[in-house]
Amino acid sequence: MIGYIHSLETMGTDDGGKIRTVVFMQGCNLRCVYCHNPDSWNSAHSAELIQNSEFRIQNEGKESAHSAQRTAHNEGKESAHSAQRTAHNEGNINNNSAPATCNLQPATSKDSTPMPYALCPMPSTELAKKLIRFKPYFKNGGGVTFSGGEPLLQADFVRETVRILKENGIHVALDTACSVLNESVKALYGAVDLVIADLKFFSNEDYITHAHADIFNTVIDTLNYLNKIGKPVILRTVIVQGINDNEESILKYKEIGDRFKNIIRHEFKPFHTMGFSKYKEFGITNPLENKSALSSEVLERLVSAQKSE
Ligand code: SF4
Repeated sequence: MIGYIHSLETMGTDDGGKIRTVVFMQGCNLRCVYCHNPDSWNSAHSAELIQNSEFRIQNEGKESAHSAQRTAHNEGKESAHSAQRTAHNEGNINNNSAPATCNLQPATSKDSTPMPYALCPMPSTELAKKLIRFKPYFKNGGGVTFSGGEPLLQADFVRETVRILKENGIHVALDTACSVLNESVKALYGAVDLVIADLKFFSNEDYITHAHADIFNTVIDTLNYLNKIGKPVILRTVIVQGINDNEESILKYKEIGDRFKNIIRHEFKPFHTMGFSKYKEFGITNPLENKSALSSEVLERLVSAQKSE
């Protein structure tokens, strides 16, 4: 089975704990304003993935509005390379004519530095082989984490890779925005050891405003499903100044998290600006370019206030 990989990070420590190799899958159906991986958004096969994942069905009649919004974000500011990718992607979303195969070359930055796997098809067997090589580093709770982009858009590919990894005794985590819930995705959830689930916002309006996707119900359905099957979950929320950096919001997030017994912990992460250079690099408008990183002191104060309630 073929998948599309953005990149691998071989010594990650933040996604699932311990030493982990993180596989960043290419393609995402959200456009979070605080995204630090905008280079993972587009892929030559986005329309095909979105259609297969039923995301399009859930958003019938709204996709074109979202696409227009996304296009407006980038209007007039695309670099030659990202313009090529956007034209390809937006065209596919709008006319539903995804190519049968990816015929683009690996993405390169303006200085021609190769981005190793972006937009390139890779067999699950080849990816698994690469990952198994890192197994000696996975002692004491390490392993592989699939992230993105949105790995659920390639659920069957990820599940096939996970199957091989599990046969080789490797712990696997899945880091997802929970934006899709169908039979393929459920099978993937069943196959992994841990789910790192984003609870980005606590209302559908906020999801639409700040992530350009009306997926709040899908996120809640997913959390219910993961609770039902007893899957360990780390819940993750990014706190951004002017969007959700207040005690009332933190309490609402906590209220949702408290509904589910399978949640190991709820991590609140401060918004950071490390991805800003990518927006410049790829000529994408950065909606938060005037914001600074949230300090850990402010985050600590907010989360402590939440605990004291
Ligand atoms: S889901 Fe993740 S990769 Fe996709 S836009 Fe949001 S932060 Fe970025």
